[in-house]
Amino acid sequence: MEKVYVKTFGCQMNVYDSEKIYAFLQDRYLPAAAEDEADLVILNTCSIREKAEQKVYSLLGRLKPLKEEKPDLLIGVGGCVAQQEGERILARAPMVDIVFGTHNIDQLASILEERITSGRRLCRIDEDADRVPTAGAPRAGSRKGPTALLTIMKGCDNFCAYCVVPLVRGREISRSRDEILEEARYLIAHGAKEITLLGQNVNSYREPSTGGGFIDLLESVDALDGLERLRFVTSHPKDFSEGLVHAMAGLPSVCEHIHLPVQAGSDRILAAMRRCYTSGEYLEKVSMLRSLIPEVEITTDIIVGFPGEERADFDRTLSLVDTVGYQNAFSFRFSARPGTAAADLEDPVPHETKRSWLPELQEVQNRITAGKHSSMVGRTVGVLVEGSGRRSNGMLEGRTRNNFIVHFPGSPSMVGCEVDVRILRSRKIHLEGEVVS
Ligand code: SF4
Repeated sequence: MEKVYVKTFGCQMNVYDSEKIYAFLQDRYLPAAAEDEADLVILNTCSIREKAEQKVYSLLGRLKPLKEEKPDLLIGVGGCVAQQEGERILARAPMVDIVFGTHNIDQLASILEERITSGRRLCRIDEDADRVPTAGAPRAGSRKGPTALLTIMKGCDNFCAYCVVPLVRGREISRSRDEILEEARYLIAHGAKEITLLGQNVNSYREPSTGGGFIDLLESVDALDGLERLRFVTSHPKDFSEGLVHAMAGLPSVCEHIHLPVQAGSDRILAAMRRCYTSGEYLEKVSMLRSLIPEVEITTDIIVGFPGEERADFDRTLSLVDTVGYQNAFSFRFSARPGTAAADLEDPVPHETKRSWLPELQEVQNRITAGKHSSMVGRTVGVLVEGSGRRSNGMLEGRTRNNFIVHFPGSPSMVGCEVDVRILRSRKIHLEGEVVS
């Protein structure tokens, strides 16, 4: 059989879509370990920031010599950049054979077939879809590790001023509960101990026929035999409810971690971003979470330098970060995305003034993370073993229920087990320890 290599950029939603791409193509292609051993290379792209988009074009440039060496090599571009750029990719990158949108991944096999039989380069972009593409079961043995992603919905109806997602992923569509449970059972039967439910805003999940909400779904997935841990991402703070916190506290498999993107600490900037909550409302939800789930760890996303953001606004973000004490914060400089409301906003605050803000924020967050890591030293924690550490050297890597990454020496036979680890050292990104059971 021929081989396909999928290079994934961006978020977990894209990681999930890439798994689906492999599944949609499995009748014709086996997975390749790298581009240079593949007959088909697919770039599953991200357009959330300008930098991510540039990376796609620079990788395409690097694929050019490979295509010259192997003229039969097929190159496809999918994902959010493809959805937004469409035909322009074919014009700008002559080595690309097909471009397909975020709603077209289930048509990939037929698009490739048409490319091969017609000899024409193709672009297939549907503007919107009334369904979430679902692939059949992946080839037996193609699942690796005890963790799995599961999309419950796609698209977003929120239209935050800076965000391209509603433009490239379309409006919200929820999958049926039965379909989600069937996929979850499949994943558990093939080794998944932990499932992460994915959606741009999982709190607005609505079962298409019954209208049941996200809490109902969480209860149904939690009840599945064999599932040890359940996570979900992302929660919009405006929709994050006390009912959900009670469900998190009461359902045994739901982990004590929440990703709650705050984006900014200034109410003026939150309003300009169209986030529909104030910093005070956000902080109230955080203290409700902490009072009901004392072990909970919170992570977040923050955009620095939104148009019009002044030093006083940024100071409010620093103060909020200090007050919440995030486990980790994914922070980025504002990047104007075409088609979004923020792309047209004037910015009277000079770029030079804002340049130092991101490293300043990261320094504050690093100090908080270091404090959290140090406070774990000496404790014994349950770790689900996910595999070898990235730098391997005999170390295994896993995660606690509340999202600390832990490295420790151990045998590969432990992968998929939950083990007790005593924490011995704290590092910048992870903790190190030794197995005690
Ligand atoms: S909630 Fe806002 S930031 Fe999140 S995907 Fe939707 S529009 Fe983008």
